Amino acid sequence: MKFGGTSVGDGKRIKHVAQLAKEYREKGNELVLVTSALSGVTDALLKCARDASETGKTSIVKEFIADLTKQHHQAAHDAIEVNGIVEKVSNELDLRIEELEKALIGICYLGELTVRSIDYISSYGERLAAPLLCGSLNSIGVRSKAFTGGEAGIITNDEYGNAKPVEITYSLVKERLEPLLKNGVPVVTGFIGENEAGIITTLGRGGSDFTASILGAALGSDEIWLWKEVHGILTTDPKIVPEAQTIPVISYIEAMELSYFGAKVLHPRAIEPAIKHGIPVRVKNTFHPESPGTIVVKEQKTIKDIVKAVTVIKNVALINVSGAGMVGTIGVAARVFTTLANAGVNIIMISQGSSEANISIVVDESHLDKAVKAIKVEFRNGTIKEVTADRNICVVAVVGAGMANTPGVAGRVFGALGKAHVNVIMISQGSSQHNISFVVSEDGAKKAVQVLHKEFGLEKVR
Ligand code: ADP
Ligand code: ASP
Ligand code: MG
Repeated sequence: MKFGGTSVGDGKRIKHVAQLAKEYREKGNELVLVTSALSGVTDALLKCARDASETGKTSIVKEFIADLTKQHHQAAHDAIEVNGIVEKVSNELDLRIEELEKALIGICYLGELTVRSIDYISSYGERLAAPLLCGSLNSIGVRSKAFTGGEAGIITNDEYGNAKPVEITYSLVKERLEPLLKNGVPVVTGFIGENEAGIITTLGRGGSDFTASILGAALGSDEIWLWKEVHGILTTDPKIVPEAQTIPVISYIEAMELSYFGAKVLHPRAIEPAIKHGIPVRVKNTFHPESPGTIVVKEQKTIKDIVKAVTVIKNVALINVSGAGMVGTIGVAARVFTTLANAGVNIIMISQGSSEANISIVVDESHLDKAVKAIKVEFRNGTIKEVTADRNICVVAVVGAGMANTPGVAGRVFGALGKAHVNVIMISQGSSQHNISFVVSEDGAKKAVQVLHKEFGLEKVR
């Protein structure tokens, strides 16, 4: 069971989580808990590290550390009922915060922030949350021990900021956690692992979902549960469409496409370990545990809904590559993609017009500058005449396994958008036929999502 940042947002909530875990355990389940950082802490850590490297001001660090200490001490008082345990946990927190302070001061003096130090600093959110949840469990009579991802056996490659577990993880986790399940509830930090040299890595933002799935798969668990502040996976982001409904059952593929195409509810890799081991994933609301939530399964028996959900990806940019020299010239597209891959650019969507005179590519906005530069350098001989970029765009996607082999879905999507005067800049349909995705201007994205949510009747209670 993984609990997200809002679920462990403060001491009272941590206590609620501990009680919830106790109840499930008393019903005869064996559990491992994965905790996120208290809400907002990861962002605050990253901000402090950036400010420290840019300004070199140690006063910023001192102020941040004082706030962080206060927040976590308060949480210890509110989450833990037994005095002796409050002290023990508070001491543990102080030791960790002291290490963190030294690292941040170091960054002030060095004036540089490497990908490796970003992972190290951002790991502290989860590393402060785990002792709190563990202490809270102990104080209500549940035996528990806190682990970092690395201590639990999550060993990753060296891709800081987006690390992936290596194969040995699965046997290590089993060896380290399984013996503890009979008598207690291990608490593991989400989001972080360590590489083979023992250096802390992170699995990418929102990575606690991925941690839970890795642990669940390694332990051969019956189910993997992701507890959040929403009722489950919804038909779209409720912040855009308040009438969005909970999807009771969804397939692995649909859930993956949804998260790839921007639904912030799941980390994009969170489903992979579950798929590999055939384990159902449940998404539930921490504050309404009685509500059934969403279950993600291998395949759904009957598919009533053609379209399940509408998603939007923000912070992306569109690159247009054009030039008459591209027509009939073999290998231009291959060269463009190889160039981008070598520059470490993440490509989200591509489309090539049949005239062959242009290729459009959607990339992460943070990769735009290096992408444009790499293409210009590669084609300085003139095959490509023009490279233009547009930052003010979003990708909207319509997702649903029922779309495969159902004629007319694309017609409905673009017909509805046309009627609402939403201009479509680029279109792409994955060959899986499980999604149709397209690019609109940033200003048109909200409207596009609302129009399509209505067009496919997604606001109806399921
Ligand atoms: P966690 O507490 O596990 O970190 P998240 O904050 O990552 O949970 O995920 C829940 C958030 O995702 C919600 O606040 C919601 O606004 C957003 N969201 C976006 N798309 C969806 C969707 N299709 N279903 C549910 N939530 C969504
Ligand atoms: N705390 C991390 C983040 O904010 C990981 C997570 O919450 O899943 O991205
Ligand atoms: Mg999350």
